[in-house]
This record gives sequence, structure tokens and C-alpha cells, in this order.
Amino acid sequence: MIYLDAAATSQVRREAIEAMFPYLTGAFGNPSSHHGLGEQAARALAEARQAIADVVGSRPDEVIFTSGGTEADNLALKGIALARRAADPQRNRILLSAIEHPAVLESARYLQRVHGFEIAELPVDAEGFVSERSCAEALAPDVALLSVMYANNEIGTVQDLTGLSALAARHRVPVHTDAVQAAGWLSLDTGELGVQAMSLSGHKFGAPKGIGALVLRSPTPIEPLIHGGGQQAGLRSGTENVAFAVAFAAAAQLAEAERVEAAVRVSALRDEFIQAVLGRVPGAQLTGPASGRRLPSVASFCFRGTHGESVLLELERRSVICSSGSACAAGSSEPSAVLLALGLGAELAQTAVRFSFPSAVTGTELAAAADAVVEAVAALTRFRGAAPKR
Ligand code: PLP
Repeated sequence: MIYLDAAATSQVRREAIEAMFPYLTGAFGNPSSHHGLGEQAARALAEARQAIADVVGSRPDEVIFTSGGTEADNLALKGIALARRAADPQRNRILLSAIEHPAVLESARYLQRVHGFEIAELPVDAEGFVSERSCAEALAPDVALLSVMYANNEIGTVQDLTGLSALAARHRVPVHTDAVQAAGWLSLDTGELGVQAMSLSGHKFGAPKGIGALVLRSPTPIEPLIHGGGQQAGLRSGTENVAFAVAFAAAAQLAEAERVEAAVRVSALRDEFIQAVLGRVPGAQLTGPASGRRLPSVASFCFRGTHGESVLLELERRSVICSSGSACAAGSSEPSAVLLALGLGAELAQTAVRFSFPSAVTGTELAAAADAVVEAVAALTRFRGAAPKR
């Protein structure tokens, strides 16, 4: 099997399993307990928090563990918008890019539906970039929060967060970024990026599913969403998942240590793969940036005359695993909202396929995958081409 669906999820790294194993077995204490076993768990949690803080350039008390990227996005959008408006009632508008993950978009829609916020979407160009100009025009004293994803999960577009954050800072608007897909490939330094809040998800880089974090740079105001025993400074109650936090930290440290080398190597392989597909598959069209600011691990195409789901099946028959649109939208027959936002027609958007590479992908695997794509698309378009003309 050639696994090219790393943006959906990754295999749990052995080092992460080994790091967490003690906290599932002998060292199983509750970190809030006042005895040796509890203190041992609390120490492990504190170390995990410090490790994540080192990766994102924050203080450890600015790391809030969550159940994953979706919860981190919900906490950021709802928590910050509600707190900002409570402090300053005119701040009633949420700015989003037009290509946000549903975890961000649906959180904003909830705020609109239930709490009366307004949403303003920042358009993107044909490659998925938010322009500084449209952002500057939309920023105003009534904006509570700007949320722009760091790297897009479907087309790999990497936004210029530093530039957008600098604009937002002039209006004292906090910036949240969903960095779920960026982790392991791009620098997560919140200071350099100028963001106040960043969502992460462990299962995208070798930790188990069900653990993530919201990094919240002080003094950004936030209203907690989950109430209870007051864990994590009252910002996210509930007994912490110590073992998963430890695995998350171990995977994050490894991903960060390997990041620069992996990004250079995989970017070169990605470009070869893109050239092979565009050169050999008639009607193939790249989606997202043609060059430059594209996630090293993502190559996404439309294959005119096919259907994305059919291409997936043909590829799986040839042992290549990938995805059509985003995994979160899989199963729905709606064309991807991200592709529509780029200006693609609905029919073409239905033909989209995303290949996303694990950091250990090899050139041999991608050469075989390119052959499989050529065959798969030919198998699906052959009959159309052979159809008698009327
Ligand atoms: N944000 C982005 C950009 C994603 O790609 C995903 C997962 O696909 C999520 C958020 C949701 O993360 P999780 O699966 O940890 O809830």
C-alpha cells in the first residue's frame, strides 16, 4: 500500500507509544490527586506542556490541551469572540478566510446563529491566498477576531500570517490560526507569526487521535467552553488525558526536530510528482499554488472528465490511498467549498483528488503512484473518449 493520505491522519509513532505507555499502566494517576501517583502524572503533564510550548514559542501555561483540532478551533472561535465582545460590546464581527476548515466555519456560524455575531468572509484568489488588501479593508473597530488557517488541508496553500497579523495588530484584533496541517512542515513559532491563538492536532503528526491543543498567547481574553473541576486554569475542565498529552509532546518534538530536512526533501518529491501528473495525465489541473507557498506534503488536482470518488477507487485498486477533497467532507457529494471559493465550477470541483505525503514518503513510491494515476484516469476516461460521435 502507498499511503498518500497523511493530511487525513498518520500512523502513531513508536516513540509516542513508548512515551505514553507508562501513563497507561503503572503511572496511571490523576494529575489533580494529592499523592505520589497523582504528582507523578502532574509532572508528566507539565513536561508535555513545556515541550509543546518550546515548539510553538510560548509559555507552558499558554498551552491548553484539547481533544484535538476541532475542539481547539471551537474554543478559539467561541471563547475569544465571546470574551472580546463581553469586554467591548461593539466587537460583534468575526473575520474568516473563505477556505477555513468546517471546525472554524461552523463555530463562526454557531456564533452568528445563537449569539448574533456577524461573519465577514475574506475572499481568496485562484490559488487560495487571502490578500492583505481585502484583510486591511475588512479590519475595523467592530471586529472581535480574525481567523485564517495557516496551511489549507485540501490545496496546501500557506498563508502569509505574519503580514495579516501585523495588519490585525493595528486594530487590536486577535488572530487565530488553524495550524493543524502546518505542524511538522512549517515553523509554528507563534511570536514570529504574530498570532494570539493556534490550533494543533496530534494525529496529523504521529500522536493518537483525540489529543490536540489550543495555544493561547497571554493576555488574549477567552471564555471557557467546558466547565467543571477547573483543570487547566479553568480554561478546559475535565481530567487531563495524561498519556495522550505525553504522546502528543513526544510526536511534536520529533516532528519539529525533523521538520526542516523533511520539508526540503518532500517538497522536491512533491514537485516531481506534480510535474509527472500534469505531464502525463490529459486534462489534469493542479489546484492551489503553482509554486512557492504550498505545503510540502500536499499535491491536489482536478481530473476533468472523471469523478473524484471514482478516481479514489481506481487508485485503491492499484494500492494507492488518497482522498477526494478533504476527509471531513468525504461521504458528502457536495463539491468542496474550498474549491468553489477558488472560482472552480461545481462540476470540475467534483473531480478533485488530494495526495498528501507522510514525511517518510519515497521517490519510488511517488513514481509508482504517478503511474497509477495515469492508469486510473485513463481507465475512467477511456470510454468517454471512445464514445461514437452523434
Ligand atoms: N483543522 C484542519 C485544517 C484539519 O485538517 C483538521 C482535520 O482534518 C481539523 C482541523 C480537525 O482536527 P481533529 O481531527 O483533530 O479534530
